Amino acid sequence: MTTTSATAQTRDWALCLADLGWHVFPLRPGTKTPALHGHRTCPGTGICADEHQGWEQRATTHLTRVRTCWSSGGYNIAIATGPSGLLVVDCDQPGHEHRMPDRWATLGIRTGTEVLGRVSYM
Ligand SMILES: [Zn+2]
Repeated sequence: MTTTSATAQTRDWALCLADLGWHVFPLRPGTKTPALHGHRTCPGTGICADEHQGWEQRATTHLTRVRTCWSSGGYNIAIATGPSGLLVVDCDQPGHEHRMPDRWATLGIRTGTEVLGRVSYM
Protein backbone atom coordinates (compact mmCIF):
# COMPACT_ATOMS: atom_id res chain seq x y z
CA MET A 1 0.00 0.00 0.00
CA THR A 2 1.30 3.43 -0.92
CA THR A 3 1.05 6.23 1.58
CA THR A 4 0.54 9.68 0.13
CA SER A 5 1.39 12.76 2.15
CA ALA A 6 -1.29 15.32 2.91
CA THR A 7 0.66 17.88 0.86
CA ALA A 8 0.75 15.55 -2.15
CA GLN A 9 -2.97 14.79 -1.81
CA THR A 10 -3.84 18.49 -1.62
CA ARG A 11 -1.57 19.22 -4.61
CA ASP A 12 -3.30 16.46 -6.59
CA TRP A 13 -6.73 17.90 -5.71
CA ALA A 14 -5.60 21.38 -6.77
CA LEU A 15 -4.35 19.94 -10.08
CA CYS A 16 -7.63 18.06 -10.57
CA LEU A 17 -9.70 21.20 -9.99
CA ALA A 18 -7.48 23.27 -12.30
CA ASP A 19 -7.73 20.57 -14.95
CA LEU A 20 -11.52 20.95 -14.78
CA GLY A 21 -11.01 24.60 -15.71
CA TRP A 22 -11.58 25.93 -12.21
CA HIS A 23 -9.27 28.79 -11.23
CA VAL A 24 -7.56 27.89 -7.95
CA PHE A 25 -5.47 29.89 -5.51
CA PRO A 26 -3.76 28.95 -2.23
CA LEU A 27 -5.08 29.65 1.25
CA ARG A 28 -2.97 29.75 4.38
CA PRO A 29 -3.09 26.36 6.07
CA GLY A 30 -6.15 25.94 8.29
CA THR A 31 -7.70 29.26 7.23
CA LYS A 32 -9.85 30.90 4.58
CA THR A 33 -7.20 33.61 4.12
CA PRO A 34 -5.41 33.86 0.76
CA ALA A 35 -1.74 32.97 1.07
CA LEU A 36 -0.79 36.16 -0.72
CA HIS A 37 0.25 39.58 0.47
CA GLY A 38 -2.35 42.34 0.53
CA HIS A 39 -2.45 45.84 -0.92
CA ARG A 40 -0.88 47.35 2.20
CA THR A 41 2.07 44.93 2.16
CA CYS A 42 2.57 44.67 -1.60
CA PRO A 43 6.31 44.72 -2.41
CA GLY A 44 5.65 45.89 -5.98
CA THR A 45 7.93 43.21 -7.38
CA GLY A 46 7.49 40.04 -9.44
CA ILE A 47 3.90 39.51 -10.56
CA CYS A 48 3.01 42.77 -8.75
CA ALA A 49 5.74 44.85 -10.46
CA ASP A 50 3.27 46.96 -12.45
CA GLU A 51 0.20 46.65 -10.25
CA HIS A 52 -0.78 44.57 -7.22
CA GLN A 53 -2.17 41.18 -8.16
CA GLY A 54 -4.70 39.87 -5.67
CA TRP A 55 -6.20 36.41 -5.33
CA GLU A 56 -8.72 36.89 -8.13
CA GLN A 57 -6.00 37.91 -10.59
CA ARG A 58 -3.63 35.19 -9.43
CA ALA A 59 -6.14 32.34 -9.44
CA THR A 60 -5.11 30.00 -12.23
CA THR A 61 -5.75 26.84 -14.19
CA HIS A 62 -2.08 26.71 -15.27
CA LEU A 63 -1.07 23.21 -14.17
CA THR A 64 2.65 23.94 -13.81
CA ARG A 65 1.97 26.93 -11.57
CA VAL A 66 -0.53 24.89 -9.53
CA ARG A 67 1.93 22.02 -9.14
CA THR A 68 4.74 24.37 -8.08
CA CYS A 69 2.61 26.21 -5.55
CA TRP A 70 1.02 23.19 -3.85
CA SER A 71 4.28 21.26 -3.84
CA SER A 72 5.91 23.99 -1.78
CA GLY A 73 3.57 23.97 1.20
CA GLY A 74 0.46 22.67 2.86
CA TYR A 75 -1.88 25.29 1.47
CA ASN A 76 -5.63 24.88 1.45
CA ILE A 77 -7.34 25.19 -1.92
CA ALA A 78 -9.72 27.99 -2.88
CA ILE A 79 -11.61 28.39 -6.13
CA ALA A 80 -12.25 31.79 -7.70
CA THR A 81 -15.86 31.14 -8.67
CA GLY A 82 -16.29 34.09 -11.07
CA PRO A 83 -13.38 33.28 -13.41
CA SER A 84 -14.35 29.60 -13.14
CA GLY A 85 -17.90 30.30 -14.31
CA LEU A 86 -19.37 28.77 -11.16
CA LEU A 87 -22.48 29.74 -9.24
CA VAL A 88 -22.24 28.87 -5.55
CA VAL A 89 -25.21 28.40 -3.26
CA ASP A 90 -24.27 28.56 0.41
CA CYS A 91 -26.95 26.50 2.16
CA ASP A 92 -26.11 27.22 5.79
CA GLN A 93 -27.11 30.13 8.02
CA PRO A 94 -25.18 33.36 7.64
CA GLY A 95 -22.30 33.49 10.15
CA HIS A 96 -21.82 36.17 12.75
CA GLU A 97 -20.07 38.41 10.21
CA HIS A 98 -22.93 38.24 7.72
CA ARG A 99 -26.67 38.50 7.75
CA MET A 100 -29.46 37.35 5.49
CA PRO A 101 -30.33 40.03 2.90
CA ASP A 102 -33.47 41.97 3.85
CA ARG A 103 -35.46 40.70 0.87
CA TRP A 104 -35.17 37.17 2.28
CA ALA A 105 -35.15 38.01 5.99
CA THR A 106 -38.48 39.86 5.71
CA LEU A 107 -40.00 36.61 4.38
CA GLY A 108 -38.75 34.75 7.47
CA ILE A 109 -36.06 32.93 5.53
CA ARG A 110 -32.99 32.12 7.64
CA THR A 111 -30.81 29.76 5.58
CA GLY A 112 -29.48 29.31 2.08
CA THR A 113 -31.43 26.07 1.86
CA GLU A 114 -34.66 27.99 2.49
CA VAL A 115 -33.69 30.51 -0.21
CA LEU A 116 -33.07 27.65 -2.62
CA GLY A 117 -36.47 26.16 -1.74
CA ARG A 118 -38.18 29.49 -2.32
CA VAL A 119 -36.55 30.28 -5.69
CA SER A 120 -37.30 26.79 -7.00
CA TYR A 121 -41.00 27.76 -6.93
CA MET A 122 -40.48 31.11 -8.67
ZN1 LIG B 1 1.24 42.76 -4.66
